[in-house]
Amino acid sequence: MTRDAVQRLKRLAGDLWWSWQPDGPAFFADLDPTAWQRTGHNPVAMLIDAPAGRFDTLAPALEARLEALESALAAHLEACGRGTWHDRAGAPLDAPVAYFSAEFGIHESLPTYSGGLGVLAGDHLKSASDLDVPIIGIGLLYRQSFVQQVSDGTGRPIDHFEAHDFERLPVERVRDARGDEVRVMVEVGAAEVVCGVWRVRLGRVSLLLLDTDRPENPPELRTITARLEGADHRVRIRQALVLGLGGVRALAALGIEPSRFHLNEGHSAFLVLERARQALLARAAPDVATALEHGRARNVFTTHAPAGAGHDRHPADLVHEHLHRLAEVLGLDREALLSLGRWPGEHGHDAPFDLTLLALRSCARANGVSALHGSISRQTFASLWPDRPVEEVPITHVTNGVHAPSWQAAEWREALAPLFPPDAPLPTATDPRWTRVRGLDDATLWATRRRLKERLFALVEARGEERSRRLGHPHTPLGLDPDALTIGFAHRFAPYKRATLLFHDGDRLRGLLSTAPGPVQVLIAGKVRPADAEAHRTLEELFQQTRDPVARVVLVEGYDIALGRAMTQGVDVWLNTPRRPMEACGTSGMKAGMNGALHLSVLDGWWPEGCDGETGWAIGDTRAYESEAAQDAADAHALYGLLETEVLPLYYQRDDAGLPRGWLRRVKAALASTTPWFNSDRQVQDYLHHLYAPG
Ligand SMILES: *Cc1c(COP(=O)(O)O)cnc(C)c1O
Repeated sequence: MTRDAVQRLKRLAGDLWWSWQPDGPAFFADLDPTAWQRTGHNPVAMLIDAPAGRFDTLAPALEARLEALESALAAHLEACGRGTWHDRAGAPLDAPVAYFSAEFGIHESLPTYSGGLGVLAGDHLKSASDLDVPIIGIGLLYRQSFVQQVSDGTGRPIDHFEAHDFERLPVERVRDARGDEVRVMVEVGAAEVVCGVWRVRLGRVSLLLLDTDRPENPPELRTITARLEGADHRVRIRQALVLGLGGVRALAALGIEPSRFHLNEGHSAFLVLERARQALLARAAPDVATALEHGRARNVFTTHAPAGAGHDRHPADLVHEHLHRLAEVLGLDREALLSLGRWPGEHGHDAPFDLTLLALRSCARANGVSALHGSISRQTFASLWPDRPVEEVPITHVTNGVHAPSWQAAEWREALAPLFPPDAPLPTATDPRWTRVRGLDDATLWATRRRLKERLFALVEARGEERSRRLGHPHTPLGLDPDALTIGFAHRFAPYKRATLLFHDGDRLRGLLSTAPGPVQVLIAGKVRPADAEAHRTLEELFQQTRDPVARVVLVEGYDIALGRAMTQGVDVWLNTPRRPMEACGTSGMKAGMNGALHLSVLDGWWPEGCDGETGWAIGDTRAYESEAAQDAADAHALYGLLETEVLPLYYQRDDAGLPRGWLRRVKAALASTTPWFNSDRQVQDYLHHLYAPG
């Protein structure tokens, strides 16, 4: 290897495309296993930390793998616009879709996400890259990320924030043709804030991130992009201004004129005002109403919020304080500005401003993220269309999917390869060739499941060891058993997610476990927002469960993309217990299904579409309950019944070869139905045909 070796490695590390290639993560892990672990799977940081000369010569096998990755990336970029899926789709976009989101979860090495919304945005961009759909992501680059640990003894969460050095992240400053940094200005109330612009490379597409932590800005403006989580109304309004106004201006600075503006949640809704301002300045519209109306045609809004929550309602005065200058340019007085984000009938001086309503009023197309969520959203927002029956409220749905190359273990991709022609995209869900999955060899399948489980347990053990080291305790190995039925639960600890439902009736649970045909282990991970007292109590309660001698419960710290991937790949059963119909979609169960884990879930979010009697089990039923307590009791009862009479017997029913044939039939059903359908390629295709398409 020559001296440009480090340059070559940097180039590969500088495009997160590597993170979803079959040999990408393995290549960097093998390059330096210790540094890979120490940096949290961050090749950019690995290369910065490496002593001079460390990578000047690579072993021939690594050199060959580097070359293979480099030429695959070159071929991927080269094929842009030539015979790709988007090329053949029939209604190609002639300019990119600008995809706005306050968070993007692409890889564990880029801490710009909190949970499901971010991971979904990341998966959307990756599929767009794979399919060659022109899209550009717009988000914020946060200086700090939220880390949560669990105290010893009580299980009380200890929250802290970790600051990042952007040089060590897979981002690069955007520069103009002269090599100068691109910066945009955004007015925040009476002040102006300077925003830096960063690019994340994702194969054929890019993500632009804005940040305000620059020396030109006064301290109170530098911290606008300090944190994704835990910001108050003032900071959230400011972040929305940077994202919406700054995002549109960054696109203009780069000469990009998007064909569509895709607003994900209300956070970016102010962009519609900036576009109206530009139209007025260009004299493309005579007044603000016309400018907004012209803009509508190109705007798409997706609500991802669980029913009855997540909508960003801000105090009226605070919104006016921050937007009065923009409103003046638009010719809007205080009332006219605020009325854009108010619920019908709320006209009081202090009636709050809801970004979701601004978005819904300013986008020609809108959707929810599962069939059920589409219907719930039509009810939630029906008052905006008072002269229409609920079923005609113009909010449709596109059911979410997950990015298979990122979430499905390489072992499954290998197992499926002989069934379908290699190098061709996987056939669509309705293709009869998917029935071939039933012919996969049971023993091989079972061995794969076990290998993934062992990999998960090794990660859980390593994190436990790290925790003991941090606390200065001697480490007692957890001794997880790969032959035991393992149930996984990893979700945000929002009250509607009911993380403690499994423990609703402790005696009943212990009773069924003690007469079960074999042992059961439960792995739980999750995220609590900073200063969320109710969720903190949930975590403490779960911690108490880990001390139960009968139920084997393990609480795993640090729920991030890496842990989410390992858990959805490694467990036998994926548990989801939202209080119906609160879940918008939920995507972790899709990740599990693609890895042959069976989904045990309330019929909420995507599950009514995914549950076909074979891919998992439905907890409880779909009726409305007189109280939350009654609903919780009924669902817990149904969950215990399923575990006792279906899940446990099926798992432990073995034939002479020691194989659970009935269970494996369901594993195959999950693989064959989840992989092609609940997949972000299908999701991006649906968006292109139904939401982005012109006309
Ligand atoms: C998939 C994923 C989520 C979303 O999962 P839900 O099913 O909505 O609970 C959240 N966080 C991470 C890290 C994920 O990978």
